[in-house]
Amino acid sequence: MTMRSLLNQPKTNLIFYKTDEEIELLRDACLLVCKVLTHVGANLKPGMKGSQLDREAEELIRDHGATPAFKGYIGAGSETAFPSTLCISLNEAVVHGIPSDEIAFKDGDIVSVDCGVLLNGYHGDAAYTFAIGDVDEATMELLRVTKTSLYKGIEQAVHGKRIGDIGFAIQNYTERAFGYSVVRELVGHGVGKSLHEDPEVPNYGKRGNGVLMREGLVIAIEPMINLGKKDVMQGKDGWTIVSSDKKPSAHYEHTVAVRKHHADILSDHDPIEAAIAMNSELKTVEAKEEIGVFAA
Ligand code: MG
Ligand code: MG
Repeated sequence: MTMRSLLNQPKTNLIFYKTDEEIELLRDACLLVCKVLTHVGANLKPGMKGSQLDREAEELIRDHGATPAFKGYIGAGSETAFPSTLCISLNEAVVHGIPSDEIAFKDGDIVSVDCGVLLNGYHGDAAYTFAIGDVDEATMELLRVTKTSLYKGIEQAVHGKRIGDIGFAIQNYTERAFGYSVVRELVGHGVGKSLHEDPEVPNYGKRGNGVLMREGLVIAIEPMINLGKKDVMQGKDGWTIVSSDKKPSAHYEHTVAVRKHHADILSDHDPIEAAIAMNSELKTVEAKEEIGVFAA
């Protein structure tokens, strides 16, 4: 995810449209990210620490001839490089959590895991929020709605629509229908040779506003939705973003290529969810409804 006002990133407004060959390279990178998240889904359990998952993720990525994209990342305005392969954000942490060597996961936690890789010159980016054990029903509903909102956004990622259509769809669903809050300071982004390219992809907005999407645009769509109020703050470690009211926050992300008549999802949550279904320590996050036809 890209930081917005918190880091005051310079705007370049340079959009790179991808060829079909480039889109397949991006898909390869995204599928490696999903392999890592599938490993997380298969192994995550109470008592485990984030640092262990992080080590295993880095090994898996390097075994595939790729590089972790977040490790060493220096965002505009940040003073320290991100130290890890995964962002692991627990409960009230929205995103950018640093995997911990001290705090163990516990029953009832929600764990957002975000991963980025660089493979053959192109980036992949995807995220999933996992539910460990006995997560309370209000938080489970936040996860279900946030996951569903991701697909509501993706449905709009079609040639001829505008970036604001994506944000509107996500905001309208999560805020208007369910009373949750869209985080404003962090947004989705273009993906390509750089991890974060233009355009920004906010999870809020007005229908028919913003950049016109054309075939070949590749963007990460990643709703970050708070159970309580929208306000967030940065933790003492200089990275972790937490909800100001300390209520839970959820995050799901796909990288998507804009096609003429449909959105082409380059990442894949299916293997992650198959691993969750086999892991008795985790609770399944069901979609609220099936949305859109994403096949060609
Ligand atoms: Mg992202
Ligand atoms: Mg991500």
